[in-house]
Amino acid sequence: MTLSTWAPVPADSEFGVANLPYGVFSRGEERPRVGVRIGNNALDLAPLLARDHEIPVQGPGGGLAEAVAAESLDALLAAGPQAWKSLREWVTGLLTDPAKESEASPHLVPLADVRMHMPFTVADYVDFYSSEHHAANVGKMFRPDAPPLLPNWKHLPVGYHGRAGTVVVSGTEIIRPCGQRKAPDESAPTFGPSRRLDIEAEVGFVIGGANRLGEPVPASAFADYVFGVALVNDWSARDIQNWEYVPLGPFLGKSFATSISAWITPLAALEQARVQPPKRTHDLLDYLADDPDQPWGLDLTLEVDWNGTVVSRPPFASMYWTAAQQLAHMTVNGATVRPGDLYASGTVSGTEVHERGSFLELSWSGSEPVRLADGSLRTFLEDGDTVTLRASAPGPDGVRIGLGEVTGQIRPARC
Ligand code: MN
Repeated sequence: MTLSTWAPVPADSEFGVANLPYGVFSRGEERPRVGVRIGNNALDLAPLLARDHEIPVQGPGGGLAEAVAAESLDALLAAGPQAWKSLREWVTGLLTDPAKESEASPHLVPLADVRMHMPFTVADYVDFYSSEHHAANVGKMFRPDAPPLLPNWKHLPVGYHGRAGTVVVSGTEIIRPCGQRKAPDESAPTFGPSRRLDIEAEVGFVIGGANRLGEPVPASAFADYVFGVALVNDWSARDIQNWEYVPLGPFLGKSFATSISAWITPLAALEQARVQPPKRTHDLLDYLADDPDQPWGLDLTLEVDWNGTVVSRPPFASMYWTAAQQLAHMTVNGATVRPGDLYASGTVSGTEVHERGSFLELSWSGSEPVRLADGSLRTFLEDGDTVTLRASAPGPDGVRIGLGEVTGQIRPARC
Protein backbone atom coordinates (compact mmCIF):
# COMPACT_ATOMS: atom_id res chain seq x y z
CA MET A 1 0.00 0.00 0.00
CA THR A 2 1.33 3.41 -0.91
CA LEU A 3 1.55 5.71 2.07
CA SER A 4 0.29 9.22 1.52
CA THR A 5 1.11 12.28 3.52
CA TRP A 6 -0.76 15.45 4.39
CA ALA A 7 2.52 17.35 4.00
CA PRO A 8 3.07 19.21 0.73
CA VAL A 9 5.20 17.06 -1.60
CA PRO A 10 5.50 17.99 -5.29
CA ALA A 11 4.34 15.20 -7.64
CA ASP A 12 7.85 14.59 -9.04
CA SER A 13 9.61 14.87 -5.66
CA GLU A 14 12.14 12.22 -4.64
CA PHE A 15 11.56 13.21 -1.01
CA GLY A 16 8.18 11.66 -0.28
CA VAL A 17 7.18 9.77 2.83
CA ALA A 18 9.13 6.66 1.72
CA ASN A 19 12.42 8.56 1.98
CA LEU A 20 12.63 10.79 5.10
CA PRO A 21 16.37 11.57 5.30
CA TYR A 22 17.87 13.21 8.37
CA GLY A 23 19.88 16.42 8.45
CA VAL A 24 20.86 19.31 10.71
CA PHE A 25 19.45 22.72 9.87
CA SER A 26 19.10 26.23 11.26
CA ARG A 27 17.07 29.24 10.35
CA GLY A 28 18.39 32.75 10.86
CA GLU A 29 20.12 33.02 14.22
CA GLU A 30 18.45 29.93 15.63
CA ARG A 31 20.45 27.02 16.99
CA PRO A 32 21.04 24.10 14.58
CA ARG A 33 18.82 21.06 15.19
CA VAL A 34 17.81 17.76 13.65
CA GLY A 35 15.21 17.71 10.91
CA VAL A 36 13.65 15.25 8.51
CA ARG A 37 13.21 16.26 4.90
CA ILE A 38 9.71 15.89 3.44
CA GLY A 39 9.21 17.45 -0.01
CA ASN A 40 10.88 20.85 0.09
CA ASN A 41 10.56 21.30 3.85
CA ALA A 42 12.47 20.25 6.92
CA LEU A 43 10.29 18.88 9.70
CA ASP A 44 11.56 20.25 12.99
CA LEU A 45 11.48 17.13 15.15
CA ALA A 46 12.43 18.32 18.62
CA PRO A 47 9.31 20.32 19.59
CA LEU A 48 7.04 17.54 18.27
CA LEU A 49 8.92 14.69 19.90
CA ALA A 50 9.24 16.52 23.22
CA ARG A 51 5.49 16.43 23.74
CA ASP A 52 4.91 12.90 22.45
CA HIS A 53 5.03 10.40 25.28
CA GLU A 54 4.56 7.31 23.10
CA ILE A 55 8.18 6.88 21.99
CA PRO A 56 9.32 3.82 23.88
CA VAL A 57 13.04 3.66 23.11
CA GLN A 58 15.63 5.44 25.14
CA GLY A 59 19.04 6.12 23.67
CA PRO A 60 22.21 6.44 25.71
CA GLY A 61 22.47 9.76 27.49
CA GLY A 62 18.78 10.47 27.23
CA GLY A 63 15.82 9.70 25.02
CA LEU A 64 15.10 10.34 21.40
CA ALA A 65 13.65 13.75 22.19
CA GLU A 66 17.05 14.83 23.54
CA ALA A 67 18.83 13.24 20.57
CA VAL A 68 16.89 15.23 17.98
CA ALA A 69 17.16 18.47 19.95
CA ALA A 70 20.97 18.26 19.64
CA GLU A 71 23.08 20.18 17.13
CA SER A 72 24.11 17.01 15.28
CA LEU A 73 22.97 13.47 14.58
CA ASP A 74 25.66 12.14 16.95
CA ALA A 75 23.31 11.04 19.75
CA LEU A 76 20.86 9.53 17.27
CA LEU A 77 23.66 7.55 15.64
CA ALA A 78 24.73 6.24 19.05
CA ALA A 79 21.15 5.32 20.00
CA GLY A 80 21.27 2.20 17.82
CA PRO A 81 19.07 0.32 15.35
CA GLN A 82 15.99 -0.11 17.57
CA ALA A 83 15.89 3.63 18.21
CA TRP A 84 16.36 4.40 14.49
CA LYS A 85 13.44 2.10 13.69
CA SER A 86 11.20 3.61 16.38
CA LEU A 87 11.96 7.15 15.29
CA ARG A 88 11.33 6.38 11.62
CA GLU A 89 8.02 4.73 12.48
CA TRP A 90 7.03 7.69 14.63
CA VAL A 91 7.91 10.24 11.92
CA THR A 92 6.10 8.16 9.27
CA GLY A 93 3.04 7.96 11.51
CA LEU A 94 3.11 11.70 12.12
CA LEU A 95 3.32 12.54 8.43
CA THR A 96 0.69 10.04 7.27
CA ASP A 97 -1.98 10.55 9.94
CA PRO A 98 -4.37 13.33 8.85
CA ALA A 99 -5.23 13.94 12.52
CA LYS A 100 -1.63 15.06 13.16
CA GLU A 101 -1.57 17.76 10.48
CA SER A 102 -2.70 20.67 12.62
CA GLU A 103 -0.17 19.84 15.33
CA ALA A 104 2.78 19.13 13.03
CA SER A 105 2.40 21.44 10.04
CA PRO A 106 3.57 24.56 11.95
CA HIS A 107 6.92 22.72 12.32
CA LEU A 108 7.54 22.40 8.59
CA VAL A 109 10.32 24.82 7.66
CA PRO A 110 10.88 25.66 3.95
CA LEU A 111 14.32 24.48 2.83
CA ALA A 112 14.73 27.80 1.03
CA ASP A 113 14.87 29.47 4.47
CA VAL A 114 17.38 27.16 6.14
CA ARG A 115 21.10 26.66 6.29
CA MET A 116 22.30 23.06 6.39
CA HIS A 117 25.13 22.03 8.72
CA MET A 118 27.62 19.18 8.94
CA PRO A 119 25.19 16.43 10.00
CA PHE A 120 27.43 14.49 12.40
CA THR A 121 30.90 14.49 13.88
CA VAL A 122 33.01 12.25 11.68
CA ALA A 123 34.88 9.82 13.92
CA ASP A 124 37.10 7.72 11.65
CA TYR A 125 37.04 7.94 7.89
CA VAL A 126 37.90 5.13 5.49
CA ASP A 127 37.81 5.24 1.72
CA PHE A 128 37.55 2.06 -0.33
CA TYR A 129 38.34 1.36 -3.98
CA SER A 130 35.57 -1.05 -4.88
CA SER A 131 34.63 -0.29 -8.48
CA GLU A 132 36.35 -2.76 -10.79
CA HIS A 133 36.00 -0.40 -13.75
CA HIS A 134 37.49 2.54 -11.84
CA ALA A 135 40.37 0.46 -10.47
CA ALA A 136 41.11 -0.93 -13.92
CA ASN A 137 41.00 2.52 -15.55
CA VAL A 138 43.34 4.01 -12.94
CA GLY A 139 45.64 0.99 -13.22
CA LYS A 140 45.92 1.48 -16.98
CA MET A 141 46.82 5.17 -16.53
CA PHE A 142 49.09 4.97 -13.46
CA ARG A 143 50.77 1.63 -14.29
CA PRO A 144 50.54 1.29 -18.07
CA ASP A 145 53.02 -1.60 -18.25
CA ALA A 146 51.32 -3.81 -15.63
CA PRO A 147 47.97 -5.68 -15.43
CA PRO A 148 45.22 -3.11 -14.64
CA LEU A 149 44.16 -4.83 -11.39
CA LEU A 150 46.71 -5.74 -8.74
CA PRO A 151 46.66 -9.40 -7.58
CA ASN A 152 44.83 -8.68 -4.29
CA TRP A 153 41.96 -6.69 -5.79
CA LYS A 154 39.41 -9.48 -6.24
CA HIS A 155 40.27 -11.07 -2.89
CA LEU A 156 39.71 -8.11 -0.59
CA PRO A 157 38.13 -4.63 -0.69
CA VAL A 158 41.19 -2.36 -0.97
CA GLY A 159 40.96 0.81 1.12
CA TYR A 160 42.89 3.39 3.14
CA HIS A 161 42.32 5.46 6.26
CA GLY A 162 41.50 9.05 5.35
CA ARG A 163 41.30 12.30 7.27
CA ALA A 164 38.07 12.64 9.30
CA GLY A 165 38.73 16.26 10.30
CA THR A 166 38.51 17.58 6.74
CA VAL A 167 35.19 16.00 5.85
CA VAL A 168 32.94 19.00 5.12
CA VAL A 169 29.27 19.49 4.39
CA SER A 170 27.91 20.12 0.90
CA GLY A 171 28.27 23.77 -0.12
CA THR A 172 31.64 24.27 1.58
CA GLU A 173 34.11 25.97 -0.77
CA ILE A 174 37.12 23.86 -1.75
CA ILE A 175 40.47 25.63 -1.73
CA ARG A 176 42.80 24.30 -4.39
CA PRO A 177 45.52 22.40 -2.54
CA CYS A 178 49.22 23.10 -2.82
CA GLY A 179 51.93 20.49 -2.65
CA GLN A 180 54.71 18.61 -4.33
CA ARG A 181 54.04 17.59 -7.89
CA LYS A 182 56.25 15.81 -10.36
CA ALA A 183 55.10 14.89 -13.83
CA PRO A 184 56.75 11.76 -15.32
CA ASP A 185 58.74 13.92 -17.77
CA GLU A 186 60.08 16.26 -15.03
CA SER A 187 63.40 15.47 -13.39
CA ALA A 188 62.55 16.88 -9.94
CA PRO A 189 59.41 17.80 -8.00
CA THR A 190 58.20 21.38 -7.72
CA PHE A 191 55.91 23.02 -5.15
CA GLY A 192 52.71 24.82 -6.10
CA PRO A 193 48.95 24.59 -6.65
CA SER A 194 47.65 21.27 -7.91
CA ARG A 195 47.30 21.32 -11.69
CA ARG A 196 45.23 18.15 -11.82
CA LEU A 197 42.44 18.72 -9.30
CA ASP A 198 39.73 16.09 -9.65
CA ILE A 199 36.59 14.65 -8.10
CA GLU A 200 35.56 11.14 -7.10
CA ALA A 201 31.84 10.37 -7.14
CA GLU A 202 31.23 8.03 -4.22
CA VAL A 203 28.62 6.77 -1.79
CA GLY A 204 29.36 6.93 1.94
CA PHE A 205 28.05 4.77 4.78
CA VAL A 206 27.46 6.32 8.20
CA ILE A 207 28.00 4.04 11.17
CA GLY A 208 25.94 4.20 14.36
CA GLY A 209 26.99 0.99 16.08
CA ALA A 210 30.16 0.04 17.93
CA ASN A 211 31.97 -3.26 18.29
CA ARG A 212 34.51 -4.21 20.95
CA LEU A 213 38.22 -4.21 20.24
CA GLY A 214 39.14 -7.62 18.90
CA GLU A 215 35.58 -8.58 17.91
CA PRO A 216 34.98 -8.30 14.16
CA VAL A 217 31.62 -7.22 12.74
CA PRO A 218 30.22 -9.90 10.43
CA ALA A 219 28.81 -8.82 7.06
CA SER A 220 25.42 -10.09 8.24
CA ALA A 221 25.34 -7.39 10.99
CA PHE A 222 25.60 -4.55 8.44
CA ALA A 223 22.12 -3.09 9.10
CA ASP A 224 22.72 -3.10 12.88
CA TYR A 225 25.78 -0.91 12.45
CA VAL A 226 25.01 1.33 9.49
CA PHE A 227 22.52 4.15 10.04
CA GLY A 228 22.40 5.51 6.54
CA VAL A 229 23.95 6.70 3.33
CA ALA A 230 25.53 9.99 2.24
CA LEU A 231 26.84 11.15 -1.10
CA VAL A 232 30.58 11.74 -1.03
CA ASN A 233 32.89 13.76 -3.27
CA ASP A 234 36.44 12.64 -2.56
CA TRP A 235 38.29 15.64 -4.03
CA SER A 236 41.64 14.40 -5.33
CA ALA A 237 44.81 16.19 -6.49
CA ARG A 238 46.08 13.69 -9.06
CA ASP A 239 49.52 15.25 -9.51
CA ILE A 240 50.21 15.27 -5.76
CA GLN A 241 48.72 11.77 -5.45
CA ASN A 242 50.68 10.28 -8.32
CA TRP A 243 54.01 11.46 -6.86
CA GLU A 244 53.35 10.56 -3.22
CA TYR A 245 51.25 7.39 -3.20
CA VAL A 246 53.91 4.68 -3.56
CA PRO A 247 54.34 2.66 -1.35
CA LEU A 248 51.91 3.66 1.43
CA GLY A 249 48.90 4.97 -0.49
CA PRO A 250 46.94 8.25 -0.65
CA PHE A 251 48.00 11.07 1.70
CA LEU A 252 48.04 14.82 0.95
CA GLY A 253 46.49 14.37 -2.49
CA LYS A 254 43.26 13.43 -0.71
CA SER A 255 43.29 14.84 2.81
CA PHE A 256 42.66 18.54 2.00
CA ALA A 257 38.85 18.08 1.73
CA THR A 258 36.12 15.48 1.34
CA SER A 259 32.54 16.72 0.87
CA ILE A 260 29.39 14.90 2.00
CA SER A 261 25.71 15.54 1.42
CA ALA A 262 23.78 17.35 4.14
CA TRP A 263 20.97 14.77 4.19
CA ILE A 264 21.63 11.23 5.38
CA THR A 265 19.29 8.67 3.81
CA PRO A 266 18.30 5.95 6.29
CA LEU A 267 19.24 2.45 5.21
CA ALA A 268 15.56 1.56 5.77
CA ALA A 269 14.60 3.82 2.82
CA LEU A 270 16.74 1.73 0.45
CA GLU A 271 15.07 -1.68 0.83
CA GLN A 272 13.79 -1.64 -2.77
CA ALA A 273 17.24 -0.67 -4.05
CA ARG A 274 18.94 -3.85 -2.84
CA VAL A 275 20.36 -5.94 -5.67
CA GLN A 276 22.88 -8.71 -6.16
CA PRO A 277 26.41 -7.42 -6.66
CA PRO A 278 28.22 -8.41 -9.87
CA LYS A 279 29.10 -12.08 -10.31
CA ARG A 280 32.28 -12.94 -8.44
CA THR A 281 35.14 -14.35 -10.45
CA HIS A 282 37.07 -15.73 -7.45
CA ASP A 283 36.04 -17.77 -4.42
CA LEU A 284 35.85 -15.46 -1.42
CA LEU A 285 37.17 -16.20 2.03
CA ASP A 286 34.32 -17.03 4.40
CA TYR A 287 34.25 -13.72 6.26
CA LEU A 288 33.56 -11.93 2.95
CA ALA A 289 30.82 -14.31 1.80
CA ASP A 290 27.69 -12.73 0.40
CA ASP A 291 24.33 -13.81 1.65
CA PRO A 292 22.61 -14.58 -1.67
CA ASP A 293 19.15 -14.01 -0.18
CA GLN A 294 19.98 -10.69 1.48
CA PRO A 295 22.34 -8.90 -0.91
CA TRP A 296 23.68 -5.45 -0.14
CA GLY A 297 24.38 -4.37 -3.67
CA LEU A 298 22.47 -1.10 -4.14
CA ASP A 299 20.89 0.09 -7.37
CA LEU A 300 21.72 3.78 -7.00
CA THR A 301 22.08 6.00 -10.04
CA LEU A 302 24.61 8.79 -9.56
CA GLU A 303 24.89 11.98 -11.58
CA VAL A 304 27.98 14.17 -11.99
CA ASP A 305 27.20 17.80 -12.82
CA TRP A 306 30.12 20.04 -13.89
CA ASN A 307 29.15 23.72 -14.06
CA GLY A 308 25.58 22.79 -14.98
CA THR A 309 26.39 20.05 -17.49
CA VAL A 310 25.70 16.44 -16.51
CA VAL A 311 28.88 14.72 -17.71
CA SER A 312 28.39 11.26 -16.22
CA ARG A 313 25.86 8.85 -14.67
CA PRO A 314 27.81 6.25 -12.70
CA PRO A 315 25.83 3.08 -11.77
CA PHE A 316 26.42 2.05 -8.15
CA ALA A 317 24.95 -1.43 -8.82
CA SER A 318 28.17 -2.24 -10.70
CA MET A 319 30.32 -1.99 -7.55
CA TYR A 320 32.22 -5.26 -7.05
CA TRP A 321 32.36 -5.11 -3.23
CA THR A 322 29.25 -4.32 -1.18
CA ALA A 323 29.20 -2.04 1.85
CA ALA A 324 28.49 -5.10 4.04
CA GLN A 325 31.67 -6.77 2.78
CA GLN A 326 33.61 -3.54 3.31
CA LEU A 327 32.42 -3.35 6.93
CA ALA A 328 33.36 -7.00 7.54
CA HIS A 329 36.79 -6.45 6.02
CA MET A 330 37.41 -3.19 7.90
CA THR A 331 36.91 -4.96 11.25
CA VAL A 332 38.16 -8.50 10.51
CA ASN A 333 41.47 -7.74 12.25
CA GLY A 334 39.60 -6.71 15.40
CA ALA A 335 39.63 -2.97 14.71
CA THR A 336 36.70 -1.09 16.19
CA VAL A 337 34.11 1.07 14.55
CA ARG A 338 32.14 3.64 16.49
CA PRO A 339 29.21 6.03 15.96
CA GLY A 340 30.15 8.72 13.46
CA ASP A 341 32.52 6.55 11.44
CA LEU A 342 32.19 7.17 7.74
CA TYR A 343 33.36 4.84 5.04
CA ALA A 344 33.09 5.59 1.36
CA SER A 345 32.71 3.16 -1.51
CA GLY A 346 35.47 4.35 -3.76
CA THR A 347 34.88 6.10 -7.06
CA VAL A 348 31.86 4.68 -8.84
CA SER A 349 32.55 4.00 -12.51
CA GLY A 350 30.62 1.83 -14.94
CA THR A 351 31.80 0.24 -18.16
CA GLU A 352 30.92 3.18 -20.42
CA VAL A 353 32.68 6.52 -20.90
CA HIS A 354 29.57 8.40 -19.72
CA GLU A 355 29.53 6.29 -16.54
CA ARG A 356 32.96 7.31 -15.24
CA GLY A 357 33.02 8.86 -11.77
CA SER A 358 36.23 10.93 -11.99
CA PHE A 359 37.58 13.49 -14.42
CA LEU A 360 40.85 11.55 -14.53
CA GLU A 361 38.90 8.80 -16.27
CA LEU A 362 36.45 11.02 -18.19
CA SER A 363 39.33 12.96 -19.80
CA TRP A 364 41.57 9.86 -19.86
CA SER A 365 44.32 11.52 -17.84
CA GLY A 366 43.78 14.84 -19.60
CA SER A 367 44.17 13.54 -23.16
CA GLU A 368 40.44 13.66 -24.09
CA PRO A 369 38.89 16.96 -22.91
CA VAL A 370 35.25 17.03 -21.83
CA ARG A 371 33.00 19.61 -23.53
CA LEU A 372 30.52 21.43 -21.26
CA ALA A 373 27.19 22.93 -22.36
CA ASP A 374 28.70 26.42 -22.67
CA GLY A 375 31.20 25.09 -25.24
CA SER A 376 34.17 25.19 -22.88
CA LEU A 377 36.57 22.27 -22.65
CA ARG A 378 37.78 20.73 -19.42
CA THR A 379 40.26 18.12 -18.35
CA PHE A 380 40.67 18.85 -14.62
CA LEU A 381 39.01 21.46 -12.38
CA GLU A 382 39.56 25.18 -12.90
CA ASP A 383 39.13 27.84 -10.19
CA GLY A 384 35.46 28.84 -9.99
CA ASP A 385 34.21 25.47 -11.26
CA THR A 386 31.31 23.90 -9.37
CA VAL A 387 30.71 20.16 -9.17
CA THR A 388 27.46 18.71 -7.87
CA LEU A 389 26.84 15.02 -7.36
CA ARG A 390 23.27 13.74 -7.10
CA ALA A 391 21.80 10.27 -6.76
CA SER A 392 18.54 8.42 -6.54
CA ALA A 393 17.31 4.91 -5.95
CA PRO A 394 14.16 2.90 -6.67
CA GLY A 395 11.62 3.08 -3.87
CA PRO A 396 8.26 1.41 -3.22
CA ASP A 397 5.50 1.54 -5.86
CA GLY A 398 7.65 3.16 -8.52
CA VAL A 399 8.63 6.25 -6.54
CA ARG A 400 12.26 7.43 -6.55
CA ILE A 401 14.24 7.92 -3.36
CA GLY A 402 16.47 11.00 -3.67
CA LEU A 403 19.85 10.97 -1.97
CA GLY A 404 20.10 14.71 -2.28
CA GLU A 405 23.27 16.31 -3.52
CA VAL A 406 26.79 17.20 -2.57
CA THR A 407 28.17 20.34 -4.16
CA GLY A 408 31.35 22.37 -3.94
CA GLN A 409 33.05 25.24 -5.76
CA ILE A 410 36.80 25.48 -6.34
CA ARG A 411 38.54 28.57 -4.90
CA PRO A 412 42.07 29.66 -5.87
CA ALA A 413 45.10 28.18 -4.14
CA ARG A 414 46.71 30.12 -1.27
CA CYS A 415 50.35 29.36 -1.97
MN1 MN B 1 38.12 7.94 -3.22
